[in-house]
Amino acid sequence: MGGELFFADADSNYSDADFVIFGAPFDGTSSFRKGSRLAPDAIREASYNFETYNPYFDIDLADIPFHDAGDADIPFHGAEDVDIPGNYTVEHAQAAVGEMVTTILRDGKIPIMLGGEHSLTVPCVRGSMNHFNDLGVVVLDAHFDLRQEYEGQVNSHACVSRRIIEDITDNYTSIGIRSGTRDEYSLARSRGITYYPADFVEDKGIPHVLAELSRHLDLDTSHLYLSLDMDVLDPVYAPALGTPEPFGLTDRQVLSLIRRLAPRSIGFDLVEIAPGFDSGNTALLGAKFVREFIASARASR
Ligand code: MN
Ligand code: MN
Repeated sequence: MGGELFFADADSNYSDADFVIFGAPFDGTSSFRKGSRLAPDAIREASYNFETYNPYFDIDLADIPFHDAGDADIPFHGAEDVDIPGNYTVEHAQAAVGEMVTTILRDGKIPIMLGGEHSLTVPCVRGSMNHFNDLGVVVLDAHFDLRQEYEGQVNSHACVSRRIIEDITDNYTSIGIRSGTRDEYSLARSRGITYYPADFVEDKGIPHVLAELSRHLDLDTSHLYLSLDMDVLDPVYAPALGTPEPFGLTDRQVLSLIRRLAPRSIGFDLVEIAPGFDSGNTALLGAKFVREFIASARASR
């Protein structure tokens, strides 16, 4: 357990906080590059680079009550050479995350999870659905994550969206998609899943996508959960990832999406950074996105 390191300016105590950050240091199903269990602390460390003042919103993070609750009760942190014991499964990690999210939502606060791998989004979405009974989900991701199972696991990072649409809600939209099996693309079409491929974002531009997305969400969605799989970004902007995929979104495109979606979001996560595959840029970008999420969400309330 880290325990000493907290996200910069998360100076509020828990009871006064409107936003509660927590870490989820687990990467047990990661298939290509492991390391996202090290991301929560890498993001926290990177967060100290930034000023508290946000000139775009004319708002100061020092004036916004937010709290860092530490990590969910997942027993593997820190050293890069610590392997996850075989008897600790992704389902254990999901249960720990679910407990954290349920408590935060019950206390009327907005949870912000620092992953960890993408499988940990499932308990966040489930907890949000249980709390609000009515939920839209937007996932920013290079990958569909629509597999029924992957490497024998139904709760793999490659199955996140499938679990969400089958077990929780089909009010689901993904943005930035550019990788999946033929079956995943067929499933998306046959289920009528709304998705905006990375090529579509590139061709039409973010303002067009945002306008279409807003119309779509206004119709169906009163509460929104936002999940940012960092591999939605082009590896040029975010090289330290579990499964990098070229021809992705720019940092500014993702920023625009966060600024637009944060105001209506009741929860947020940022997953799949694998520190160690760059010199810290991806964790810096992740930390900045968390700060922009909080500023954007607050500016509108
Ligand atoms: Mn994903
Ligand atoms: Mn992905």
